[in-house]
Amino acid sequence: MKATVYEGPRSVSVKEVPDARIERPTDVLVKITSTNICGSDLHMYEGRTDFEKGRIFGHENMGEVVAIGDAVDRVRVGDLVCLPFNISCGFCRNCEKGLTAYCLTTPDNPKMAGAAYGFADMGPYDGGQAELLRVPYGDHNCLVLPEEAWEKQTDYVMLSDIFPTGWHCTELAKVQPGDTVAIYGAGPVGLMAALSANLKSAAKVMVVDRHPDRLALAEQIGAIPIDDFKGSPIDQINEHTNGLGADRGCECVGYQAHDPGGREHPNLTLNNLVHSVKFTGTIGVVGVFIPQDPGSPDNLYRQGEVAFDYGLFWFKGQSIGNGQANVKAYNRQLCNLIQQGKAKPSWIVSHELPLDRAPDGYQHFDNRDNGWTKVVMHP
Ligand code: NAD
Ligand code: ZN
Repeated sequence: MKATVYEGPRSVSVKEVPDARIERPTDVLVKITSTNICGSDLHMYEGRTDFEKGRIFGHENMGEVVAIGDAVDRVRVGDLVCLPFNISCGFCRNCEKGLTAYCLTTPDNPKMAGAAYGFADMGPYDGGQAELLRVPYGDHNCLVLPEEAWEKQTDYVMLSDIFPTGWHCTELAKVQPGDTVAIYGAGPVGLMAALSANLKSAAKVMVVDRHPDRLALAEQIGAIPIDDFKGSPIDQINEHTNGLGADRGCECVGYQAHDPGGREHPNLTLNNLVHSVKFTGTIGVVGVFIPQDPGSPDNLYRQGEVAFDYGLFWFKGQSIGNGQANVKAYNRQLCNLIQQGKAKPSWIVSHELPLDRAPDGYQHFDNRDNGWTKVVMHP
């Protein structure tokens, strides 16, 4: 089968690799119809997170079930399914509570919790930027989609990651109807957090970035674009909130945050949030920060330690929630919102490409080239 494989920093190729296949009775085999490039792929693509050469990318996947293992009895061949990026078992102590991002069964390292397709340090699973994908615990991990999803793949494929992740960020931030919400990052995840805040009836949603095309997408759904090229985002958010600061804050950038001048500042968005959010406000962090890796060279990213003004955070009585999204826990509800026409996450899709053009897609999305907000590939 054809698959998108990692070749080294800023290099991917589409190659022939051995076909994915059923390996265990609980597996489902999916023929991929849509698969996205995600900001999380860029951590590996840019070489910021180690990824073995030759591994297959892709954790935002949907497709048609083409084979099922002997122990699969809910999912059927021919079903169109979306796959949460977290691979989970459904029966461990954490999954039982809906914490599928922290599954204890699926990681290959007993000290870890949580697994994903095509991801560094998150289990041995191949990604779905390929013609076929093996889905472990298929009955649990396949979200069977309604018939209309065949025609609306660019909406439904967003259930694999970024729509639930944006929603998770607003859950962590405890967004309530009537709240003012400040979101850092107008990438796909930040835009989905803005959509989610809207769906939760936030009174005012402000989205910070510096790319006009991305800020325009935020504006399209009624959010206030905050361009940090034009001045301090903290001051701008204060102006929009009568000097109080936002009720809730969302971090949708991660450890690759940089200042408007292009200098890397892993702590910038966390610090800005502490300043932008009101006393007693709450902050959700879904942007990725990675743990310390003692074996890696000493640099800003490998330390795992990101300093922010904890004193001010404490003084303001704020609280913070963070981590990966438990996609499974939100999937049914968000799927219904799409089906009812209340959410249309495809508004951010800028490009639909054949899988062969993955190298192009990666390059432009990584550069944040004007108009390259979200790439969906069709093998
Ligand atoms: P992206 O890189 O396309 O978007 C990030 C955006 O942040 C860019 O538009 C960039 O211009 C902007 N930005 C950079 N520095 C900034 C700053 N100082 N202030 C404001 N904006 C700034 O990526 P994405 O796909 O939107 O993903 C965003 C983050 O979410 C990544 O770290 C990704 O790994 C993470 N993520 C987490 C989960 C989860 O489960 N927690 C799931 C998916 C993605
Ligand atoms: Zn993703």
